[in-house]
Amino acid sequence: MEVPWLLVAHGSVTALVVVSFLCGQWPIFEGTFIQSINHFLTFGAYHYLLRFVQAVCGTGARDLVLGVEQYCCDRPNPILQVFYVAIIGVTYFMIVQTSFEYIPGYYVSGWHRYLSIVAVAVGAILFVLTSFSDPGTVTAENFSQYVSAYPYDNIIFVEKECSTCKITRPARAKHCRICDKCVARFDHHCGWMNNCIGEKNTRYFVAFLVWHFLICVYGALVLGFILAGELKERKVIYILTAYYGIENSFLGLFPHVAQWLLAVHNTQILLSVFLAILALLLGGFCAYHAHLCLTNTTTNESFKWQDYIMWMKKENEAKANAAALKASMGSSNSEAHKAPPSKWRSFFVRSRRPSVEPVVKNNIYDRGMIRNMCEVIVPLSERKSFSRRKSD
Ligand SMILES: [Zn+2]
Ligand SMILES: [Zn+2]
Repeated sequence: MEVPWLLVAHGSVTALVVVSFLCGQWPIFEGTFIQSINHFLTFGAYHYLLRFVQAVCGTGARDLVLGVEQYCCDRPNPILQVFYVAIIGVTYFMIVQTSFEYIPGYYVSGWHRYLSIVAVAVGAILFVLTSFSDPGTVTAENFSQYVSAYPYDNIIFVEKECSTCKITRPARAKHCRICDKCVARFDHHCGWMNNCIGEKNTRYFVAFLVWHFLICVYGALVLGFILAGELKERKVIYILTAYYGIENSFLGLFPHVAQWLLAVHNTQILLSVFLAILALLLGGFCAYHAHLCLTNTTTNESFKWQDYIMWMKKENEAKANAAALKASMGSSNSEAHKAPPSKWRSFFVRSRRPSVEPVVKNNIYDRGMIRNMCEVIVPLSERKSFSRRKSD
């Protein structure tokens, strides 16, 4: 009886760690224990490890750990790519080993055996395309075309030379310190892909996210239908109600059915919970990137806009406060010899807050949802107009 609860506890702790690690910095978790776990996992644990290694093995070992950290985080490396292949491989292998014997089943037809192979293969192709395709490297040969294709908005992008590449950095481009090159329409450097996500491969990256979200939903649903088919074929509900006298209601049956499933099909339960959690996380990423594509913004730009809006708000507030102070000083001089307002009047009259000018995000690259999507699917540098730009 203790094994199922052990599995549930194991699943819950794993889910908590995964959610905290991946989503702990989201504003929704600010000030919660999930943010604390995220801080411990991403910073605290490493800090304590360094102190521990130095205390036990000396400075040499500490430098070795720092060197490994530099290799893993500051240089191109395939660690997370291998990790991705391992996750996909192990999960699919476990599904084949433990669940293919139930296909075809009561609710699941035989062609899901082949559809699952196609689903994983397409996912792998999208992974290879995103990882090994050119993200849109800006070179001495093409930078003038990129400069002409993406005008400077003089808000978050101003004309500047890249100090490393020694070329004029086009608007929307950024120098990736890991790949050591300037990337057009830079989104972010993706450790999982060991590649930058930029102008030319954002389409593969978004397709990868959407496809993996769909695979996870598909896997979790098929596993769920396998379990439902097993309940039906083995007449579990009938046996529980007819032989054990359990009340035939959802609340009466649920604990007994859950107990039977955890005892007989714990691998499928763990796999489907794992896939459901991944689907939730990927669903969030998909929604975020869909929003970015539709508004023609990149992850890099969304951070730049955040900083710009925060800065402008503070500046406008300071201006409004200064104006209000000036106005109140003027009015207090003219009202100095008037009778003071009654206490009741002052209590009910709301103090006027200085009106702050709202900050408007003027994204000049946003050309409407359809054209924005077309720009992701067919990047500007792959259009005929791009090659003509150099002679302009
Ligand atoms: Zn550069
Ligand atoms: Zn990069």
